[in-house]
Amino acid sequence: MKEEEKFYEETFRDTITTVDKAGKWRWIYAIKPKGRWYNIRKVAAYLYFLLFVLVPFIKLDGNPLLMINILDSKFSILGKMFWPHDMFIFAILMIALIVFIVLFTIAFGRLFCGWACPQTIFLEFIFRPIEWLIEGSPSQQRKLDKAEWTIEKIIKKTSKHILYLLISFGIANIFLAYIIGIDELFVMVREPLLEHKKMLFGLIGFSILFYVVFAFVRDLICTTVCPYGRLQSVMVDKNTMQVAYDYSRGEPRARFKKNEIRTQGDCIDCFKCVMVCPTGIDIRNGTQMECVACTACIDECNTVMTAINKPKGLIRYASENELEGGEKIHFNARMKAYSMVLFLLVGLIAFLIVSRNSVDVFISKVKGQLYQENPDGTFSNLYELKIFNKNKSAAIIQLIPENYKNAWVKVIGQQVFNVDAEKMAEYKFFVMIPRDQVLKRSNDLTIGLYLNGKKFNTVKTKFSGPFN
Ligand code: SF4
Ligand code: SF4
Repeated sequence: MKEEEKFYEETFRDTITTVDKAGKWRWIYAIKPKGRWYNIRKVAAYLYFLLFVLVPFIKLDGNPLLMINILDSKFSILGKMFWPHDMFIFAILMIALIVFIVLFTIAFGRLFCGWACPQTIFLEFIFRPIEWLIEGSPSQQRKLDKAEWTIEKIIKKTSKHILYLLISFGIANIFLAYIIGIDELFVMVREPLLEHKKMLFGLIGFSILFYVVFAFVRDLICTTVCPYGRLQSVMVDKNTMQVAYDYSRGEPRARFKKNEIRTQGDCIDCFKCVMVCPTGIDIRNGTQMECVACTACIDECNTVMTAINKPKGLIRYASENELEGGEKIHFNARMKAYSMVLFLLVGLIAFLIVSRNSVDVFISKVKGQLYQENPDGTFSNLYELKIFNKNKSAAIIQLIPENYKNAWVKVIGQQVFNVDAEKMAEYKFFVMIPRDQVLKRSNDLTIGLYLNGKKFNTVKTKFSGPFN
């Protein structure tokens, strides 16, 4: 038995595959997958790259399709702008997303990891293929790593890492476009970089981060860093669809011997499913936290089964129940409950987005100020006003006190408040009310809000008067 095979035979219960006996990190030299699932994933991955690159360029109603600008607390989802005071909608959206992920995981296991996680997609379809191209097969890579530094090794290693750095830089640019928006990114590119020091540091930081992750850290992200991976054990159950080894069909495993009438299980213990695994696990030991559902072992085992004239599917997508008794995945009570919660949350989000004002106005009394008595026979109170204009055009806001006769709003030099497109503006203003109507120390005040001459909301606040 080879040294590597012995490692898997003896240690899978108490050792993670990426750490050797001395506690040192074991580099995984995965062989290149081949087969139907890999081909489908390759097409899906290239569409994914295309989408990843194109989304920052797509705009709806003049806003980015998706922008998560945490620096300025500005978010755009499906072309709808969200500001800090919209954060509750964003928070509900996040909760709905978590419920969706949980529900999805209960039903389909780590399908997301293998098919949609940027870490897996970038690693398996960009960075690893470059490695195969430059350094050759896993055995050639192993040999190269152990070899002395020669001109050939220097050229291969340098060219690989230069390519990795360039691609990481490209990914970092796109990633930054999701944060600050593509327009801002282009401004930064056109103008002297030193005028955008923060962004420049961000860009360099992301580039280094992606380079380190894809060149060195790799599977450790999935097996030790990613919280989603570590939560699998509490989300999956016996009905969850997983990449699974059909042990009742495969066991007892035994090496294949030509012309022998086989009485053992279908697994010929060839270790191909282990050699192809990017996280270095042996799926025959059962569902493991390290499995990212990449389907590479399905393809590899299917090739082996075809070669020995056995039906495909010894490793396949299946639930534990299906493997035990043939019962297929079904919509159980837990999934129904999560679906109901998800349905309600989506309904609530849709309502909040549809009923959301395109302009938000916040009025509060200036702290520490009482009332003023004016020579024109009015009392006045001083207020602060914050206007968030989420429109693509400037907004003219007018305030009209509604529950007092001849009351009015006084702002130095103007009667209306202008706010540029997608900007926030702050003003101070007085509300003037004839003395004979201010009857108490604390009076209710209703202010009508008008956008470009049309009423769109009312705000209730207080107006201070003298003691009686
Ligand atoms: S590839 Fe298939 S036959 Fe070979 S060891 Fe894995 S499960 Fe067994
Ligand atoms: S066990 Fe199979 S599906 Fe899971 S990570 Fe390894 S190769 Fe991919």
